[in-house]
Amino acid sequence: MNNRLYGNLIFEWSQEGRQGYSLPKNRFGNYEIPDALRRQEDAQLPECDEMTVVRHYTNLSANNFGVDNGFYPLGSCTMKYNPKINEEVAALPPFQNLHPLQPAETTRGAEAVCTMLCRSLCELTGMHAFTLKPYAGAHGELTGLMVIRKYHEHRGDDARRLVIVPDSAHGTNPASAAVCGLEIVEVKSTAEGLVDLDDLIQLVKSEGPRIAAMMMTNPNTLGLFERQIPEIEKLIHEVGGLMYYDGANLNPMLGAARPGDMGFDVMHINLHKTFSTPHGGGGPGAGPVGVREGLEAFFPTVSPYHGNFAVAMRALAYILSLGRENVKMVGPLATLNANYIKECLKDVYELPIDGLCKHEFVFDGLKDKSTGVTTMDVAKRLLDYGYHAPTIYFPLLFHESLMIEPTENESKETLDGFIAVMRQIAEEAKAQPETVKSAPHHTPISRVDDVLAAKHPITTYRQLLADDATSSCDE
Ligand SMILES: *Cc1c(COP(=O)(O)O)cnc(C)c1O
Repeated sequence: MNNRLYGNLIFEWSQEGRQGYSLPKNRFGNYEIPDALRRQEDAQLPECDEMTVVRHYTNLSANNFGVDNGFYPLGSCTMKYNPKINEEVAALPPFQNLHPLQPAETTRGAEAVCTMLCRSLCELTGMHAFTLKPYAGAHGELTGLMVIRKYHEHRGDDARRLVIVPDSAHGTNPASAAVCGLEIVEVKSTAEGLVDLDDLIQLVKSEGPRIAAMMMTNPNTLGLFERQIPEIEKLIHEVGGLMYYDGANLNPMLGAARPGDMGFDVMHINLHKTFSTPHGGGGPGAGPVGVREGLEAFFPTVSPYHGNFAVAMRALAYILSLGRENVKMVGPLATLNANYIKECLKDVYELPIDGLCKHEFVFDGLKDKSTGVTTMDVAKRLLDYGYHAPTIYFPLLFHESLMIEPTENESKETLDGFIAVMRQIAEEAKAQPETVKSAPHHTPISRVDDVLAAKHPITTYRQLLADDATSSCDE
């Protein structure tokens, strides 16, 4: 393959007078365009033949990585396979061409979709009612906290401004609380990786009447099931606070346990993670919020109409195509896959918290710290082998966090392939650390300076001279 084609600008393939299209014969006669509206110079557009255009964009698209290309074990992101039937359903013309301001009697089908999805979510979570309005997980958190704030204010209990957030929480939790105008207080984790009950008891004692809510992610960001939820729930409820469940990644719970049964009052789910909608690059997503009975009166209006309706369509298609029986396999399989990888690698990667995990787990870098090879190096080296890197340097509880979430979809062969490569990299770290430290070697660009790229991004591209781009004979 001609690598010069890869990544260059379409402008560099331009040849004056070259054309890749033809227009139908003009049947309308010529119209005079006033001089004032005419451009003074020709537009700077590339002039290319059709095949060059096709190859250029096809090669560019091959630079992308997605679940359809390969294994994508990005912890806390649930990059599961997105069945193509979801796309077909979401693109059905009667739904796709809907306008939100159409007369209500013409949108009954769409309403039925929303109702069915909300009912399914209630059944899967044990909640009483859902709103589909929030556009993302973080938006769901904000919505849920607004419900909680309104609930307290409605009872005239204005002093409740404190939100308890475990130190292992996703960064969006404290951020959402702050955006909602509430104060954040952190509760520590034990060495086991669970909420520190003693720390929480102290907090509840001193701050009881000011506590609006406690936010919990379960399984938490270390992939661990918070076993003390019954005690925690009791503590918070006794002092008048509400329990918030961050259900962004609900896969491991499907078929196993329900937040509603655990005593949670408010929760959100990321439809784009748990129920399979392509995500990344910032959207689109959906973070429906569910509440226990009585709280639905406090749902705020956080978006017009029904949020990202096409995401809801995909989620419903996914739930219905799995069916009531198979949806119960999601949790056990996600859990099995994560534990399989963990157990096969824990002799070469540092596992700070051993034991059964749920859908994901965290390594603290390579076990052998003498090689100088970091989590960043391992992540970059994985790219050379055709894998997406896991989540790195999150959660912040460890210095070299490497967070792996395989999802329930992957076959044993895929998991074995990944395990073999992770072991290979651990070997390389000992035998030839420089290879790992200078990775990636096989991607279009090698390692970038993250800080420089973020602070001083170069957003323009120096165009090669026409001679440079096209003279391949002399290479
Ligand atoms: C992804 C995630 C979020 C945020 O969801 P967005 O849709 O990205 O806003 C919140 N909490 C947890 C635990 C998550 O994994």
